[in-house]
Amino acid sequence: MKNRLFIFTLLFGSVAATAQNSSSATVAQSGPAIGAPAKAVERPLQALPYVPSLDVPSMDRNADPCVDFYQYTCGGWMKRNPIPSDQARWSVYQKVADENLQFLWGILDDLSKVPTSRTPAQQKIGDYFASCMYTATIDKRGTEPIQPVLQQLAALKSKAEFARWLAAQHADGAHAGLLFGFGSDQDYGDATQVIAFAVSGGLGLPDRDYYLKTDAKSAEQRQKYVEHVAKMLALSGESEAQAQRDAATVMSMETALAKATLSLVDKRDPYKLYHKMTPAELGQLTPSFDWNEYLKRVGLGGVQALNVTEPAFFQAVEAQLQSESLDDWKSYFRWHVVNGAAQYLSKPFVDEDFAFNRKYLRGIAEQRPRWKRCVGDVDNLLGEALGQEFVRRTFSEKTKQDTLHMTELIEKAMAQEINGLDWMGPETKKQAVIKLHSIRNKVGYPDKWRDYSAVQITATDFFGNYRNASSFEVHRDLKKIGKPVDKNEWGMTPPTVNAYYNPQMNDINFPAGVLQPPLYDPKIDDAPNYGNTGSTIGHELTHGFDDMGRQFDAAGNLKDWWTPEDAKKFEEKINCVRDQFGGYVVVDDIKINSRLTSGEDVADLGGTLLAYIAWREATRDLAQLQPVDGLTPEQRFFIGFAQWACENIRPEELRVNAMTDPHSPGKYRINGIVSDLPEFQQAFGCKSGQPMVRTNACKVW
Ligand SMILES: [Zn+2]
Repeated sequence: MKNRLFIFTLLFGSVAATAQNSSSATVAQSGPAIGAPAKAVERPLQALPYVPSLDVPSMDRNADPCVDFYQYTCGGWMKRNPIPSDQARWSVYQKVADENLQFLWGILDDLSKVPTSRTPAQQKIGDYFASCMYTATIDKRGTEPIQPVLQQLAALKSKAEFARWLAAQHADGAHAGLLFGFGSDQDYGDATQVIAFAVSGGLGLPDRDYYLKTDAKSAEQRQKYVEHVAKMLALSGESEAQAQRDAATVMSMETALAKATLSLVDKRDPYKLYHKMTPAELGQLTPSFDWNEYLKRVGLGGVQALNVTEPAFFQAVEAQLQSESLDDWKSYFRWHVVNGAAQYLSKPFVDEDFAFNRKYLRGIAEQRPRWKRCVGDVDNLLGEALGQEFVRRTFSEKTKQDTLHMTELIEKAMAQEINGLDWMGPETKKQAVIKLHSIRNKVGYPDKWRDYSAVQITATDFFGNYRNASSFEVHRDLKKIGKPVDKNEWGMTPPTVNAYYNPQMNDINFPAGVLQPPLYDPKIDDAPNYGNTGSTIGHELTHGFDDMGRQFDAAGNLKDWWTPEDAKKFEEKINCVRDQFGGYVVVDDIKINSRLTSGEDVADLGGTLLAYIAWREATRDLAQLQPVDGLTPEQRFFIGFAQWACENIRPEELRVNAMTDPHSPGKYRINGIVSDLPEFQQAFGCKSGQPMVRTNACKVW
C-alpha cells in the first residue's frame, strides 16, 4: 500500500513537494479571482531562493514572548504571508514546498522540451509532464478514458463477478480505496516478513466521522456530498433523476461501511489492526466475495497469510453484499470509478471535484495552476526519477554529513535523558537504549534509485501515463510479498518537505527537500539550526517511544518490552500532555482531539528538549556565544525552533484537520511546547503566572 498505517510524519502528508495530491484538482486558471490577494507571478526556478533559518523580519518584536511566543516569533511572517487563493493553509513549510515545486517545474519544463539527449528516466518525467500540461487533448477525450471500465462494470451479470472486476481495477492502479485497500506491508509480529494486507476503504468523504457525527455542520456536509456525487454521476452520462437516486444509494452504502470502520484514534492501536489470517478465514468474513478469484487475479494465488486490519469492516461488506441489489452495487462502484479518476479527466470533472473537496470542504477559493498539479503528479508517480534530478542540483555531501552528525548528538542526548528518567525502571531503560541505538538514520535520498524502465510514458496520453505509472507502483508493492524487507526503501520522495519515523523499519527519514533553508541553513550558526532541524530530528526519534511507537521493539516487531509499572507511568505522563492540548480551541467550539494528536505533541515536546541538550553539547568547546540582533544564543535557539511552524490556516481547513490530522495547529505546536520548558522560560526571563509558564508543566522525555 502506498500509505503505510504507521508512519509518523512531521506534518500532515499533504504538505509535501507533492502538495495536496490526495483530493485536489486543478486546471489552468484564466485570471486571478476577483478580490483575491495579488499573487506574485510564479515562474519555473533555476535555483532555490534563500531565507535564513532565523528571520528577524518574520518576528513581531512588539509582542511579549512570555505572553504569546508564537505571535512574537511568527507575527511578522503571518502578516506578510496571506494564504494564496489556491491554498487551504500557508506555512513556512508550504512555502518551501511551493518553491521546490517551482524548481522542479524548471527541471521538467526543460526536459519536456528537449526530445534529444535525454536519459530514459528523463524521457519519462519530461513526457509525463508534457502530457499533463496539454489540456486540450485531455478535454477533448472527455469521459473516454474511463469508458472501458464503466462498460465492464455495466456488463457484470451477478455480484459473484465483483471479485474478478475489482481485482482488475486494483491491479491497474485504480483509486486505492475502491471498496477496500489491498497491498503489502511488514508483518507486525515479524518485521523481517512482508505479507499481504487487506484494509478498510470505500468511503468518498475524508473520514468515517463525517458519516456519523450528528451536529448541524456535519449534516450539511453530508447533504452537499450527496449533491456532489449526483453532479459527478450526471457528468459521467447518467440522467439527472438516475444520478440523484444513485447518489442516495451511495450515501446509504458508505454510511453502513463507515459504521464498521475504526476511528482514527482506534487506528493508533496496532493490536486493533493486527488480525493475521489465512485466505480461507478471510473468506469466512466475506463469503459472498470470491477471494480465491481475487487473489489469483492480483497474482497472489498461493498466498498463505494476510493481515486483515479490520475484520468488522469486511463483515459489513458481506452484509452489504447480501442486502443491496446488483444495480445498487453498480451505482456505488460507478461513483468510485468516476471519483477516483476525476482529476485525470476533462475540465468539468476537475472543476466539480475542486468545488466540493477543496472549495467547500477546505475553503480554498481558487484551483492550483496546472503546472503545480502536474509537477506534483510526476513527484507522486515517478518520484525517484525526478528526485535524482533534484538531489544532483540541491543537496551537498556536506549537508548530509553535518545533519548526520547533528542526529548522532541528539541520539546521545536521548540516551542520557532515558538513563536519567526518574519514572522509568532499569529493565525498560535498558531496552529503550537498545532500541534507540538500533534506529537507522536515513538522510537525503535512497542509496539505490528505483528503476522505472518498465513504465511506458508518452507525451500524448495523460490518462494512460497515469494508469501505467500507478499500475507499476501496485505491482512493485505486491511483488514484495514473501520476500525479505528492503531496508533501504524510502516512503517519501527526495524533494518532499517533510520527515518521518517508521516503527517497523525502526528508521528515521529526512528527505533532501526538508534539509534546505530556512529549515536547515548551512550559512548560519548552530543555534537556529538545532532549534529548527534539530527539533525535527528529535521529534522523529521520540516517535519510536510514543504511545504507538513504543509498542514496537528494536527489530520492528509488535512486542511489549515495557514492564507493566513503567507502561502505566508512561500513560500517566502522556495524559498530562493530553489534558494540556485537549484544552486548546482549534476553531469555533472545536478543541484539539488530543487522543489523536498526543503522539505528535509528545514528539514535539521531547524533540525540542533533546535538540536543546544536543545544541549545548555541540557548542560546548566554542568561545562564549555572542548575541545577534539583540537576541541571546538561547533565545535564538527557541526562535529558530518556533519559526518552522509559522502559518496561516483557513477555518474550514482547521475543521477538516481537527478530525483527520494527528498534528496540532502550528500555534499550539509552539506555545504548548515552550510553556512546558523551563529552558525556554529562563531564556526569555518569563515569570510564573505568565501564559508561557504552565503551572503543572508536562515532561515525558
Ligand atoms: Zn511526527
